Amino acid sequence: GIGGPGLVVIAGPCAVESEEQMLRIARRVKAAGAQMLRGGAFKPRTSPYAFQGMGKKGLQLLALARKETGLPVVTEVLDQRTLADVAEYADVLQVGARNMQNFALLKELGQLKKPIMLKRGLSATLDEWLMSAEYLLSEGNKNIFLCERGIRAFSDHARNTLDLNVVPAVKEMSHLPIIVDPSHATGVRARVAPMARAAVAAGAHGIMIEVHDRPDQALCDGPQALHPDDFATLMVDLAAIAGALGRGMATPALKGRG
Ligand code: PEP
Ligand code: MN
Repeated sequence: GIGGPGLVVIAGPCAVESEEQMLRIARRVKAAGAQMLRGGAFKPRTSPYAFQGMGKKGLQLLALARKETGLPVVTEVLDQRTLADVAEYADVLQVGARNMQNFALLKELGQLKKPIMLKRGLSATLDEWLMSAEYLLSEGNKNIFLCERGIRAFSDHARNTLDLNVVPAVKEMSHLPIIVDPSHATGVRARVAPMARAAVAAGAHGIMIEVHDRPDQALCDGPQALHPDDFATLMVDLAAIAGALGRGMATPALKGRG
């Protein structure tokens, strides 16, 4: 699992859009060797008029994709109102960047037994991020890992600025595993693979990649989605980089931590 010796790759679409879309992409990322599946059912969108996710139906489609592929699913929990539903279906609950300091939500998630992936806030310092993790730990949930997804800095060429420096910094200051999400960090498809390779070289425990087979039709984050063929190529490169560092890929379909 995440934090063990092997590299863990989480992949899937930004959002669950339909049964066909979710199953098609799930099969492709499984075939390429991903160990976990992602897909948002509740989406935190900047505009209230943008697609907000399929909601509970999306959770059920994730469960269907898990059943078919055997891959555990990671999905975002937006608020306390939908927490029980998300906890019922998800194997790992994602706290998004915009919720990193939603302390009421963190306290409730701290009381769950399920693993939590805590994304870094849009402009959070490392101390603030680790204190948010402390909200989960202090309520009793020790099964958590961090996800660097880029921060708001001066950038006129990318969606965010990937702070790879924070990977060794987290390892110095904390026992928590850290993964990197180069999809949201760049927002640009062509930059996702280079930053994923760099993240593995920097010592990340895992990587999360958005994948879509019809990115021009995607309801969310199409411009940063990797095509499944390019994702498969990236997986080969990541295994080689991990191998050069004396690590391997984690065994597929491990549930939670192991
Ligand atoms: C996501 O991973 O789907 C997402 C919305 O990311 P972030 O919270 O990092 O923007
Ligand atoms: Mn996205």
